[in-house]
Amino acid sequence: MSAHADFDYDLLVIGAGSGGVRAARMAAAQGARVAIAEDRYLGGTCVNVGCVPKKLYAYASHFRDSFDDAVGYGWHLPETPTFDWPTLRDNKSGEIKRLNGIYQRLLENAGVTLYNARARVVDAHTVSLTSAKGDTQLSAQKILLATGGWPWVPDFPGSDLAVTSNEVFDLDVFPKRFLVLGGGYIAVEFASIFNGLGSETHLIYRKELFLRGFDDEVRAFTRDEMGKKGVQLHFEANIERIDKSEDGLAVTLTTGETLTVDTVLVATGRQANVEGLGLDNVGLTLNDQGKIDVNERFETSVPSILALGDLIDSPELTPAAIAEAMQIVEHHFGDTTPEPLDYERVPTAVFCHPSIGTVGMTEEAARERLEKIRVYRTDFKPMKHTLSGSDERMLMKLVVDDATDVVVGAHIVGEEAGELIQNVGIAVRAGLTKADFDRTLGVHPTGSEELVTMRQPTRN
Ligand code: NDP
Repeated sequence: MSAHADFDYDLLVIGAGSGGVRAARMAAAQGARVAIAEDRYLGGTCVNVGCVPKKLYAYASHFRDSFDDAVGYGWHLPETPTFDWPTLRDNKSGEIKRLNGIYQRLLENAGVTLYNARARVVDAHTVSLTSAKGDTQLSAQKILLATGGWPWVPDFPGSDLAVTSNEVFDLDVFPKRFLVLGGGYIAVEFASIFNGLGSETHLIYRKELFLRGFDDEVRAFTRDEMGKKGVQLHFEANIERIDKSEDGLAVTLTTGETLTVDTVLVATGRQANVEGLGLDNVGLTLNDQGKIDVNERFETSVPSILALGDLIDSPELTPAAIAEAMQIVEHHFGDTTPEPLDYERVPTAVFCHPSIGTVGMTEEAARERLEKIRVYRTDFKPMKHTLSGSDERMLMKLVVDDATDVVVGAHIVGEEAGELIQNVGIAVRAGLTKADFDRTLGVHPTGSEELVTMRQPTRN
């Protein structure tokens, strides 16, 4: 694309999260004149209040099991280990500050102009910027909306006493009693984290089984394993109200039960972060899913305005936003037309404890979409726990299209499931068959050798 001198910039990105930063850097590398506006933190949700601090806290929470497991291997811990929340919290903040700096340098080194300002779309090629320094307007040939998502909290009495994932990382005081509402990624991850760190932990979910959309067997197995670890699961319940009590927060459930806790986390989903973005100035509206519609070039109904990440109808995952950014740069600033993204076989992990790794179709989806399937599944006690004394088990499952022998889904629950599914994801994405899996020799002794040694279908 040739540069248009009529505009201040070729590309103006609003939002310096994973997707926005990647698009800005890569477009600049193609020779485009690029600016990015951000009024909060560099790196967006993932770096600041999402994936990165969550994973650090998940590591922290796993130590408790490790201390217990070590005893069976001959280790004697001099006294019961204690946990200091401010150390974890502040070390985490230091690491995030370092990452913020890296993002800033990445942008600067790429030649992207960074505006520390709140941006608002004025028309198809104009954005207003508001900062402590005052207001200004910039024009751009293309505007990329990359403002991500924001936690959504249902309306109930006392909902303002709860925190969201934006605040939970930085609690002043460690909650001895912790309650989370929701049954999605964030709810199960934080229930596992605070339980592992030593809180009495409750998870409240409105229907019969959490993690809707995941493979049913994975959901049930995770329920059992999280329960064994001590998370108190309250299904078919919702929060009716929260009141301040002498002893903390009194949470009244729709079942009539009242639980008194120190912190309530509401993790009931996220919505497109478009407040004050000026969408109405250009006639852009949200669809029924609360997202912005885009075509395969990531153009909204206003062709000069593009959108990606949590703003559009695609998986709310950092790697998806980054892949979309790369597509946008190729479409609008490159010489080739990229192959469309495959959103069907996206490997993903839930960092609950034990963790979940999954790619491709669930058994239920495969039964609905394919004529005949074969399911291979096993659950077992990992070798590590022969001596540790832990009763943690691991689940592995492959879903195969009987007509083609292609492995259409893989599901793992257990230690390091996220690490494992990344690799299985390559095989599933490549469309390999069960015979290909079977031809691969196992790595012995590992848990994942089960993936290539399951010979008999558990069911058809
Ligand atoms: P999710 O959409 O995953 O889950 C929301 C949960 O809240 C569901 O269990 C939903 O129930 C429940 N819920 C919705 N409305 C209400 C209500 N009014 N009352 C009670 N419960 C309600 O959202 P999260 O907030 O957990 O996470 C947002 C997204 O962020 C995820 O979908 C994921 O894409 C991403 N993420 C990814 C992570 C990862 O990759 N490891 C980690 C964290 C987040 P129901 O199922 O019945 O609708």
